[in-house]
Amino acid sequence: MALKFFNTLTRTKEDFSPINKKEVLFYTCGPTVYGYPHIGNYRAYIFADTLKRVLIYSGYKVKHIMNLTDVDDKTIRDSQKENKTLKEFTEFYTKEFKKDIESLNIINPKKFTKATDYIDEMVAIIKKLLKKKLAYKSKDGSIYFDIKKFKNYGELSHLVLENQKENAGGRIVKDEYEKDNIQDFALWKAWDEKDGDVFWETELGKGRPGWHIECSAMSMSNLGDQIDIHTGGVDNIFPHHENEKAQSEGSTGKQFVKYWMHNEWVLVDSKKMAKSAQNFYTLRDLVNKGINPIAYRFWLLMANYRTRVNFVWEALEGAETALKRLYGLYMELGDSIGKVNKEYQKKFKEFIDDDLDTPRALTVLWDVLKDENITNADKKATVLDFDKVFGLGFENLKEEKIPAEVEKLVKEREQARKNKDFQKSDELRKEINSLGYEVKDTAEGPRLQQL
Ligand SMILES: [Zn+2]
Repeated sequence: MALKFFNTLTRTKEDFSPINKKEVLFYTCGPTVYGYPHIGNYRAYIFADTLKRVLIYSGYKVKHIMNLTDVDDKTIRDSQKENKTLKEFTEFYTKEFKKDIESLNIINPKKFTKATDYIDEMVAIIKKLLKKKLAYKSKDGSIYFDIKKFKNYGELSHLVLENQKENAGGRIVKDEYEKDNIQDFALWKAWDEKDGDVFWETELGKGRPGWHIECSAMSMSNLGDQIDIHTGGVDNIFPHHENEKAQSEGSTGKQFVKYWMHNEWVLVDSKKMAKSAQNFYTLRDLVNKGINPIAYRFWLLMANYRTRVNFVWEALEGAETALKRLYGLYMELGDSIGKVNKEYQKKFKEFIDDDLDTPRALTVLWDVLKDENITNADKKATVLDFDKVFGLGFENLKEEKIPAEVEKLVKEREQARKNKDFQKSDELRKEINSLGYEVKDTAEGPRLQQL
């Protein structure tokens, strides 16, 4: 069976067939590096990573690019608030983002591209658009895309535009705006005082790029005029991706992206998790509660990427318990690795090939672990095979080796307890904690846990 993906452009599930049979060209809209992303943001990267893993599992080579938006309205505003240079400010959050990506077991893209490294390329596209009269310069020196001149504007977000386009005529300089505010959008923003020292002297004048042109430039520079897959959250469909599409196709005259794919929101109390709504959690909040970030990945995989999920702590804790159970079952399988069970693999592939049906694919994983007719070695091979797609980190699970020093302290503490020397026992507990372990007293004796 061929891979099938839901394409936002056509609103249908389509057979996947890449432009270049050997290598899939794949672009993901990355983060704006102005703060810690919330876990809702990470759904987009976990989704893109799962998609990439499915492509690789199906035998494709994937060239994946993810951008880092290090200049836009928000990065300028917040770097000024903190009295930092734009570079200093965005580099900090870039580093934090990369750490988060690692803790979620997301495979790094082939390249992270920084918007500020592509100013020349953005200028070149804007010049082309001006030449083709798809863009114009306003009085203040900013350059706008003329949506009335681009006949396919609205095609991606399926907007009934005719009336709005006729009435439009207005211009919007902000990077983010709503559907009922469709207007000509800024490609190049002429410098004004609020920008401070953030500007580039270019052929277009002194100023800075709009957000949307950044992704067009980074995608086309690294992957060519036409690519296979472009991903992001559903909130990217309009205006960001609609505008990216208009700029790119307007400048090249070719279709920009074959498959546009978008993940749904993470809700909190039935509202979208968003910084602006102040109802968000970051990965740090999870870690502070002692929850492994991979449990969040696992929780998301239990739902299809195109359905909204409602975040509650109990659900995440439930996911972590289930994940620990899976890890436990895996650890009981012993050391030898046998052969992948073909029957289960076929089922698994059928599900993931069907627009990444991870919830059903996960049921196959449980079935494998519970099946008494398969040898442990074959189970192990099959789990590791499926985990190429899930990315739950089974291959990194190891039998914990407790340091001799810790074991010695535990024994001493047991003796102290027997002697009813509770002060000493408490001191020893603290010493054990300082070495990264927690000792719990159970009916079967002391049990160690890594902190
Ligand atoms: Zn983008």
